[in-house]
Order: sequence, then C-alpha cells, then structure tokens
Amino acid sequence: MTIGKKLILASAISIALFGLLALTGWFGYRSVVKSSRAVSAFERESMCLQMVYRGLNETLLTAGTPDSIQITREAVKCFDEAHALTLAAEPDESVKAKIIERVGLRWEAIRQKLGPYMKERAADHHDLDMMIGYGEIIESGEALMKEVHAMSADAIGRMEETAANTKYYVILIWIAILLSMVSLHLDLFRSVAVPLRRLRWLMAEISADAELGRRKGLTAGLLSERLTPDESRLARRVTDIKELVASFDAMITAVNSHMDERRAVEGRLKRLASTDELTQAFNRSKFEEIIGREMDRAARLRLPLSIIIFDIDRFKAVNDSFGHLTGDHVLRTLANIARESIRDTDYLVRWGGEEFLIVSPGTGIDKAFLVAERLRQVMGAHAFDYIGPVTASFGVAEYREGESKDSFILRADAAMYNAKRTRNRVEQAA
Ligand code: GH3
Ligand code: MG
Ligand code: MG
Repeated sequence: MTIGKKLILASAISIALFGLLALTGWFGYRSVVKSSRAVSAFERESMCLQMVYRGLNETLLTAGTPDSIQITREAVKCFDEAHALTLAAEPDESVKAKIIERVGLRWEAIRQKLGPYMKERAADHHDLDMMIGYGEIIESGEALMKEVHAMSADAIGRMEETAANTKYYVILIWIAILLSMVSLHLDLFRSVAVPLRRLRWLMAEISADAELGRRKGLTAGLLSERLTPDESRLARRVTDIKELVASFDAMITAVNSHMDERRAVEGRLKRLASTDELTQAFNRSKFEEIIGREMDRAARLRLPLSIIIFDIDRFKAVNDSFGHLTGDHVLRTLANIARESIRDTDYLVRWGGEEFLIVSPGTGIDKAFLVAERLRQVMGAHAFDYIGPVTASFGVAEYREGESKDSFILRADAAMYNAKRTRNRVEQAA
C-alpha cells in the first residue's frame, strides 16, 4: 500500500470514529432528556394527587364551598395533564402500557368516585356515606401514589443507566481514536521516517563505493542488495519505498553502465595510443616506455634481457607483385605468428615499415637466439596463397650492464644487417 493511501484510510477511520462519538453523545443526551421529562411528570402527578386530597378535605370540612370544589376540579385537571405528559415522555411502548395499566386505570377508578364530592353543598363530614367514600378514595389514592413513586423510580433508574452507558461508550470510542492515532503515527514512523534515514545512509555508502569503484575500476552494488531481510520485507509491503529502491537501482545501473562504457572507451584510447593499428604490435612510443623499464629492472635484479630485431626479406617485391593490400595482409599474418611464438612476458613492437622488435625480459643471448631461430623457421614455413613463403632476417643482442639503450639497439640492428647478407638467417650481436 502507498503511504498516501494509508493516510487516506487513517483519516477515514478517524472521521468514522468521531462521527460515532457524536452520534453516541447525541442519542445519550436525547434519552436522558426524555427520561428526566418523564421523572418530572411523575413528580407532578404526585403533587396533583396531594392537591386532590386537599380539595376533598376542604369539601368535607366546609360542606362543599365553591372554593373547595374549585381546588378539587383543578387538582383533577392537573393530574390529567401530568398523566398525559408522562405518557408523551415515554418512548417505550411496553413501559407506556405499564403506566396505563398501573397509573391510568387506577386514576380512572378514583376519578369516578370523586363525582359526589364535586357538587356544592353535597358533602358533609357528618354524612356517613360520604365519609366511607372518602376513606375508599384515600386508600386507592395511597396505592396510586405508591405506583407513581415506583414508576418515577424506574424512570430515574433508566435515566441513570443511559447516562452511565453513554459515558462508557464515549470513553471506549475515545480510546479507539487514541489507539488508531498512535498506531498510525507508529506505522508512519516505521514505514517512512526510519527507512528514509536508512536509505539516505545507504545512498551515501553507495556514492562512497562508486567513488572508490571509479578509482579501482569496480562498479557500485545495487541498493536492493544492501537491504536487510526486514527492510526488503518492508520495501515489498510499502509501495513508495519499493518504487524508491527500484528507481535508485535503475540510477545506479545507469551510472555503472556509463562507467563501464567510459572505461571501455578509455581502454580503447589507451590501446590506440600504445599499439600499431595494422599489426596490433606495440608502437615506438610504447617501446620507449617498455625498454626503459625493463633495462632498469634487469640492472636492479641482475636478470638477463634480450632483444630480437627482424626485417622481412624482399618485402618490396611482395608489394610490387601483389599490391599494397596483400603486403598489409602479409605483415599482419607475420606479426600474429610472432606474437603467438613468444611468451606472455615478451613484447612485440613494430619498429618500422616491415621491421619488428621483440623485447624478452629474463632471457639470455643463447635462449634468445633459439627463440629467433624457431620464429624464423615458423615464419618461413607459413605458405601464403599465391605468394609462397616469406622469410625474414634476425639480429639478436643481450643487454650489457651499464650499456645505453641506443647502443643496445644498435648492436641488435647491426646483427640483423649482417644476417641480411644472406637473408633468412639469425645473427648474434658482437
Ligand atoms: P630487404 O629488406 O630484403 O633488403 O628488401 P626489402 O624489399 O624488404 O627492402 P626495403 O626495406 O627497401 O623495403 C621495405 C618495403 O616495405 C618498402 C615499403 O613500401 C614497404 N612497406 C613499409 N611499410 C609498409 C606497410 O605498412 N604496408 C605495406 N604493404 N608495405 C610497407
Ligand atoms: Mg626494411
Ligand atoms: Mg625488408
């Protein structure tokens, strides 16, 4: 998953949790308000009932004055209204039915008994029937009062329960919000901050390696190869990091291949600067470097060092008879034969047009003579199409301690000119 998607998901979860919190708070509040309305309506019912007794008392004591009857009438009206309120405040149908059964019906029975006490001059506490009726009303009224108190206590209980539940749910939702935020931050820290710091560090390491590699001719390793197993797992899981690693690796690969290319070009240039294009033998300027180094080494380590100079016999005739291109082919072929006949530590140099020179470190005059002799035979034995055999004349010299480079070469050259007298021969320097 990408980090962007993760953030969107986390925001959606947070919004949903906050929405749930608001809904829970709202429903809790509404429910508590309704219950408290029911409780106050029940309280009104009990107050009105007490007012009914006051009216009745007055009626009996005053033998039904208009004032006393008015009190009773208002009390009855008051109870009717309070009862309607309790029913309206109660949303639960089963509780409503209970209120009707336990309060409504009882009140109805009492109301019917109140008829004779609401007529002027009709009531008198000396009238026995009236007194008995009054006693019955008191009894039923007390039972009704008990019911009203019980129902009110129920409503209070329900209100307290709702308030407690709401509080409990709100706390739970807050904990969920907190946990989701903490887990989001931890996840972002683990999947963004830590890997980014590590990537920065790895990139610094790679550029240091690349710098070292540039000097040593090595290529820098890929970023993905440097990740720990844990980091690789994370990179597979978090798309952004996976893409980041892939693009870094693409960049490293591009830089590596660019460096390879540059090294190849440098190598080619170096070869071009030190070799002859036609024969791939070393050129004169490279020879200067080789001979200087080898003479030093021979003197320092007291090792023998020899050179062999050879010139192709009657080469002008090859050119004249078969053309310059055929002459080139002969030159190339003879140079290849020479290169294959000498050791890896020997150097083949193109000395002039059809003249070559072999530098052979660690080789004394006798051995060098044998090498030249073998080379003369192999060259002479090679049959060119149409041309027939082509031979060469050889001069061999061993380096003498303290001798100059020019004198060393001159002795080999002189020996070669000696050989030219009969051609196809090896001559040793004096
Ligand atoms: P010899 O050495 O046996 O005395 O006779 P030669 O015919 O080899 O004598 P010379 O050294 O005078 O001739 C050398 C010829 O080699 C002259 C030149 O045209 C030819 N040559 C030099 N460089 C090249 C080259 O790169 N390609 C070709 N095809 N010919 C070359
Ligand atoms: Mg020549
Ligand atoms: Mg020649």
